Amino acid sequence: MSRIQSILEQNSFSQSDFVQLLNANAMDQKLIFAKAAAIKKAEVGTQVYYRGLIEYSNRCAKDCYYCGVRRSNQTIKRYQVTDAEVLEAAQFAYDQQFASIVIQSGEQSGKVFARKIEKLLKSVKSIGQGALGITLSCGEQSKETYERWFEAGAHRYLLRIETSNPDLYSKIHPKNDQHNFLKRITALHDLKEVGYQVGTGVMIGLPFQTMDDLAKDLLFFKELDIDMAGMGPYIEHHETPLYNYRDTLLPLQDRFNLSLKMVALLRILMKDINIAATTAMQAIDPEGREKALMVGANVIMPNLTPLKYRDDYLLYEDKPCIDEEADACKNCLEARIHRTGNSIGYNQWGDSKHFAKRKSN
Ligand code: SAH
Ligand code: SF4
Repeated sequence: MSRIQSILEQNSFSQSDFVQLLNANAMDQKLIFAKAAAIKKAEVGTQVYYRGLIEYSNRCAKDCYYCGVRRSNQTIKRYQVTDAEVLEAAQFAYDQQFASIVIQSGEQSGKVFARKIEKLLKSVKSIGQGALGITLSCGEQSKETYERWFEAGAHRYLLRIETSNPDLYSKIHPKNDQHNFLKRITALHDLKEVGYQVGTGVMIGLPFQTMDDLAKDLLFFKELDIDMAGMGPYIEHHETPLYNYRDTLLPLQDRFNLSLKMVALLRILMKDINIAATTAMQAIDPEGREKALMVGANVIMPNLTPLKYRDDYLLYEDKPCIDEEADACKNCLEARIHRTGNSIGYNQWGDSKHFAKRKSN
C-alpha cells in the first residue's frame, strides 16, 4: 500500500498527513479524489443545491491587499443594487426553483447599511411566504447586527477567514484595527452563537502561503466545527498591492489543482458539511465548478446580479459569466451538472446536514 493510500485509511489526520496529501502526485491524487467522491455520495448525496448570488454592492470600507474592490481602488465605479432589483433577482430565483439566494457585499458598517439589509431581508422573505433560504456574506458586523439580520430571516452566513495563519493574514491585509485576525475569529464565533449556519474558507495559492498553512486551514475548519465552506484559488488583480508578488505565485493551473485537492480533503475531513464549487474555480478552468462537484462540493452559486453591475464586482481578474444573462447561465449549468453525475436539488434549501446534527446534540 502506498503512503498516500495508508494515510487515506486513517480516521483522523495530522498536519503532516495533510501536507503529504496536498503534495500527492497525479496518480495518488486520483485516490484522494475517488475517496472524497465516495464520501460525498454516502454522506450528502449527489444533489447539488443552488444559491442564486446577488453581488449587492462593491462599496467597501476595507482595503484587503488582494481584492479588486478594495477601498483604495479608484479605477472602479461604485454601485449598490436597488431594492427593486434585489427583489427582482430573488423573485427570479424563486420562479426558477433555486430555493435559496446569497446576498454578498463589500463591507459596509453603520446603522444605515444594517437597516437597509434588514429591510431587504424582510422583503425577500415575503416572496412565496418565506420560501427562499437566505445566506449573507456582508463581512464583519457587530453581534447586534448579526442578530437583527438573523431575526429578519437570514439563516446562513459566509465569512472567510482567508487564511488561518495570523502571520500570513497580517501580510495580506493592512495592519490596523479594521483588518484584525482576532476580530474576524470573534465574528465567526458571534455568528455561531446567534444561530446561523456558519461558513468560512480560504484563498488557495496566496503569495507567501505554504502547504503547512493549507494543512492548518483544514484543521482550523474542523476545530471551528464549521457548517459550510467556500474556498477557491487566489487570482491576482492588477489594481491591488499583492499584484507586486505575481512572479512568486504558483501557475494558475497549479493553484486550481491545489484548490480541487483542498475541496476533496475537506470532504474527507468533514463529511457532512456543505461545500461550494466557487466561481474562482471557474475563472481558471471553464469546467472548474463541475470538477469541484466531482470531488466533494455540493453547492453552486449561479450569478443573478443584474448584468449592468457585473463588470464592477471584479474581486479578481477574468471573472467568468460577467456578460451572460442569468437564465442563459441556468440552462447551460443544468446540463453541465447532470454530466457530472449529480442532479439539482430544485425547490430544496439543502441546508448543512452538519448543522442539523450539531443542533440536535
Ligand atoms: N466583503 C465580504 C464579502 C465579499 S468578498 C468579505 O470580505 O467577507 C468575498 C470573498 O472574495 C473574500 O472572502 C475573498 O476570499 C474573495 N476574494 C477577494 N479577492 C480575491 C482574489 N483576488 N482572488 C480570489 N478570491 C478573492
Ligand atoms: Fe472588501 Fe471583502 Fe474585498 Fe476585503 S475582500 S476589500 S472586505 S470586498
